[in-house]
Amino acid sequence: MTKTDVLIIGSGIAALSTAYRLARYNINVTVVTKGGKKDSNSALAQGGISVALSQEDNWRLHYRDTLMAGCYLNDEKAVERLVSLAPRTLLDFMGAGMDFDRNKKGELLFGREAAHSLNRVIHAGGDATGLKAMEQLIKNTDNNEHITFRLYEPALDLIVKDGRCYGALTRDRDGVIHTYYAGSTVIASGGIGGLYPATTNDKTITGDSIAIAYRAGCKLKNLEFVQFHPTMLTIEGHAYGLVSEAVRGAGALLINDKGERIMEGVHPMKELAPRDVVAREVYAHYLKGEKIYLNISAISDFKQKFPTVSGICESHGVDLSENLIPVAPGAHFHMGGIKATSEGRTDIKGLYAVGEAACTGVHGANRLASNSLLEGLVFGSLTADYIIDNPLPVQEADYAMSKAVAENLPTKDEIRRKMMEFVGIVRHRSETDSIIKWLDSFIPQGEKNFVSLDYNKTDNEQAEIYNMLTAGRLIAVAAAERKDSIGAHCMVE
Ligand SMILES: Cc1cc2nc3c(=O)[nH]c(=O)nc-3n(C[C@H](O)[C@H](O)[C@H](O)COP(=O)(O)OP(=O)(O)OC[C@H]3O[C@@H](n4cnc5c(N)ncnc54)[C@H](O)[C@@H]3O)c2cc1C
Repeated sequence: MTKTDVLIIGSGIAALSTAYRLARYNINVTVVTKGGKKDSNSALAQGGISVALSQEDNWRLHYRDTLMAGCYLNDEKAVERLVSLAPRTLLDFMGAGMDFDRNKKGELLFGREAAHSLNRVIHAGGDATGLKAMEQLIKNTDNNEHITFRLYEPALDLIVKDGRCYGALTRDRDGVIHTYYAGSTVIASGGIGGLYPATTNDKTITGDSIAIAYRAGCKLKNLEFVQFHPTMLTIEGHAYGLVSEAVRGAGALLINDKGERIMEGVHPMKELAPRDVVAREVYAHYLKGEKIYLNISAISDFKQKFPTVSGICESHGVDLSENLIPVAPGAHFHMGGIKATSEGRTDIKGLYAVGEAACTGVHGANRLASNSLLEGLVFGSLTADYIIDNPLPVQEADYAMSKAVAENLPTKDEIRRKMMEFVGIVRHRSETDSIIKWLDSFIPQGEKNFVSLDYNKTDNEQAEIYNMLTAGRLIAVAAAERKDSIGAHCMVE
């Protein structure tokens, strides 16, 4: 058993920004994470971070673009906090050592991404922004006397009693179950990409956050909104990694195998239309059996500008001198999640959620590109500040191990295929019930809701599959309940 002031679940940008700020105020933090320090979506992020720092920009324009991309389903106050605090937060991050790409005069370079009305996205290492940001945060949190990392040790369940969270249960790679008691517990364990067959996400991202929070009785929100990225490098039906939107921002065109531009006449912003619009169009062509490519011939010095994308392409045999990258959509980002405020507060005392795991409403029905690394940085700091101002004592509480055993689990690939078919890019009103019934058929002991498992009789792989089933069911139910299409939720007959 371990006692710690704050327990943070996950080690992406949201987790480490929160940990770094808490440690600066001498608060002891334990970070438990499913993989290694860089196993996260944060480390994979390419395009950059949106922030109104250029001379022609201001946070009100960023605010307007965020609402427009989110189909005005956003929480306006959360958006205002995010975009108005962004410049100061990014300048602080630079002060803490982070370097962004600059021109010869030392001025920040601003890239363009979909649905932004001007160039607003700062980046690092060309298209390696997430990796550079994580390397900096790891440098700032490593060897810190207030921060302890526990790697390859996923959280299994929260310890919650009478509306108060007391910590969590984890299991390390030797199979040992650990109990952590914490004054405050922060869920920063990311989204749900791994529920789908093609995803841009890291392999550790399989919907644990919402499954764990749901079992603890925590409110969830907007789960039906799953963002698909239109352009994953895809060869013979296999998806291999993201081709950043910044590539389209730099002038790449989406074409079919006849060389025709597929976004012509679909949306006035063509290739730079909001992500859901582009993803649906690419998917529609893909379903017809057409091959879709990004034509990059208009981009000079492609390899220099996009070293990460070039590396992914070349390692999978794409000859960039032909200027064509084969693409198809993949699950990318979850706008929904654990209902939380901008300071990470959930409806359970002592439990916080931040980053992609949380739903503050900031992204509405569709996230504006490059707003999520920003969310991790800004709301991570706000969450830390709230915990600093409102510390709770570390107390022990009983965790009653469930007796439920999952004997009959489907494979991960079976879950992924069903999710794509029934709650993928396009959902059919008459069909969402069938996936709910299918997922329900795996609930142990005929319980009506997904209960916790007996972790003494379940290994981490089974616990992960069970979380995928739980998260999948919650998303399917939310999708079935929202009858009309909006943003990333496309519902047809
Ligand atoms: C390929 C790609 C490119 C992207 N590009 C951009 C971009 O350019 N700009 C932008 O703003 N956004 C981008 N995004 C989105 C952005 O990267 C993520 O939304 C953001 O990094 C999420 O940060 P996070 O800290 O909330 O979660 P993550 O970075 O995903 O971290 C979650 C952490 O929780 C851990 N974890 C999972 N389950 C458990 C568990 N049960 N117990 C303990 N730990 C657990 C994971 O291993 C991981 O360490 C991109 C995403 C991808 C996948």
